[in-house]
Amino acid sequence: MCGIVGYIGEQQAYPILIKGLHRLEYRGYDSAGVSMITSQQALNVYKATGKVSALEEKCSAEDTTGTIGIAHTRWATHGEPNTVNAHPHRSQSGNLSLVHNGIIENYKTLRAMLEKEGYTFHSDTDTEVLVQLIEYTQKSNKCDLFTAVQRALKNVVGAYAIAILEREYPDRIVCARKGSPLVIGVGTDAHGKKEFYIGSDATPIIEYTNQVIYLKDEEIALMTRQSDLPEIINLANVHQTPEMHTLRLSLDELEKGGYPHFMLKEIWEQPNALRTCIRGRIHVQAKDVLLSGIVDHKERFLNARRIIICACGTSWHSALIGKYFIEEAAHIPVEVEYASEFRYRNPVIYPDDIVIAVSQSGETADTLAAIQLAEQKGAFLYGICNVIGSSIARATHSGTYIHVGPEIGVASTKAFTGQVVTLCLLGLAIAKVKRTLSDEMFHTLVDELQTIPDKIQWTLEHNKDIDKFAQMFTYCRNFLFLGRGYNYPVALEGALKLKEISYIHAEGYPAAEMKHGPIALVDEEMPCVFIAPKRGMYDKVVSNIQEIKSRKGKIISVVTEGDKTVSDMSDYTFVIPDTRDCFVPLLAVIPLQLLSYYVATAKGRNVDQPRNLAKSVTVE
Ligand code: GLU
Repeated sequence: MCGIVGYIGEQQAYPILIKGLHRLEYRGYDSAGVSMITSQQALNVYKATGKVSALEEKCSAEDTTGTIGIAHTRWATHGEPNTVNAHPHRSQSGNLSLVHNGIIENYKTLRAMLEKEGYTFHSDTDTEVLVQLIEYTQKSNKCDLFTAVQRALKNVVGAYAIAILEREYPDRIVCARKGSPLVIGVGTDAHGKKEFYIGSDATPIIEYTNQVIYLKDEEIALMTRQSDLPEIINLANVHQTPEMHTLRLSLDELEKGGYPHFMLKEIWEQPNALRTCIRGRIHVQAKDVLLSGIVDHKERFLNARRIIICACGTSWHSALIGKYFIEEAAHIPVEVEYASEFRYRNPVIYPDDIVIAVSQSGETADTLAAIQLAEQKGAFLYGICNVIGSSIARATHSGTYIHVGPEIGVASTKAFTGQVVTLCLLGLAIAKVKRTLSDEMFHTLVDELQTIPDKIQWTLEHNKDIDKFAQMFTYCRNFLFLGRGYNYPVALEGALKLKEISYIHAEGYPAAEMKHGPIALVDEEMPCVFIAPKRGMYDKVVSNIQEIKSRKGKIISVVTEGDKTVSDMSDYTFVIPDTRDCFVPLLAVIPLQLLSYYVATAKGRNVDQPRNLAKSVTVE
């Protein structure tokens, strides 16, 4: 997600920072900014919305001199992507400037405390709270910046990678991390003097040095012109010895986090992405789910007669899972509509209906048009998007961001699981408002949902050999994906993923419907992928597998760890850990994403940019 760059040494910082921001552009962002301390000890901050080139244009008429600086590309999570919310943020006195990646969960409480102490805020961001908190801590403790950052961070809940400049001390940069990555590069300039580089990953650093230190969670680092190595302390006050690593990856490999494609990177990012999606929304002690989009409109949800979800493509599949969950947990009828169909008929919409738009980019033209139609008919509009400040986010009355970070691969992976988790959180939050679940069931579901990121990690690690197995299927012209209940939408998603990136024709079907038609296609050439966890309709799925087997179809199955019956019937199995029925899709889709990825790469396809497809479908 987004990016940080920093430099302290003898060279001019600005060109290094700008080049670094360009290197980080692949991560996706909506605004950018830089801050340098000049030789006259002025702390300059320049920011612009849009591309790094817009920032460069803005800076062309400004004083960008200085041998120390920090820079940022922002991917908004709190507050719209505008210039005021862009980083770096300054402290009240103007003495500090700070850049931040991540989310501060308790920013509201901290902001209220600081406001009482006389601090004023200019932006809507959680980040501005951090810089003010650090200044407040520094002043009230009368300590140096390094100590102040460490003390301040003890009061912070959330994820952060930060870098800070202090106007009065142009010989030092302090940085810290927890949950968001930060790398320090240690270089040597032309005169043999040490210089330090900072990056969210090593891409802005690699052309200057291959000697790097990966800052660990809860570590704070101080880099000064006088020292050869950073001084590192952790939140528990223990000094750490910096561990130097030698980078061996190429720039292209680095951009993709060492993965050959963005899609594979994003598949592997899912455990962390979903932790971020859940972060701050499940209140562990109170065992509660708090979505501000619902809290602020409690009555609407309490009185809703029906929910209609409008979406397209992969989002339509996550919406279907959402329907099953919301109906089960919150007892509200839910209809899932293709936005492109909905917008051109004359749908019956009541004023007490809630219409939910689901879209990764928040720009999907058909979905936007569908909610505009619903608004004319008086419905309450709720958006579920990934991109902050997007058209759908702005056009809806309320909503929830999925917070999985920029998705670059055209075929959606982490946005799909992020949407499913968000719809489950939504279902739980409505159930809480409507009291449709017993306390015990509510807590069981909340507890289980929190285990999902770890279980996805397990699934990724236990299905590593899909790449070898996938080679055998490159010759196939057709695939069938079959599932029942919650896993029917997973079958649809598995088929869509394979079609999108490998160009092999695939159908997703409810397993029991097969005998009403598609079974005619089955022969020894036809791989049939069954999602068959040891849950719900297991025995019925076993019978459906039998029907395919007797027609010599090849069986690939997704089974629960330890399963024997389905595994014995299958030519190949992918294992997932056990979980409740409603959360199985979040695990079962993982091997299917990997299967499509490896079949497509074995066929030499351009998986990140498949032919004829666009990431954000802004035309109808
Ligand atoms: N939460 C911060 C904001 O919305 C940082 C976002 C980022 O990681 O770029 O400004």
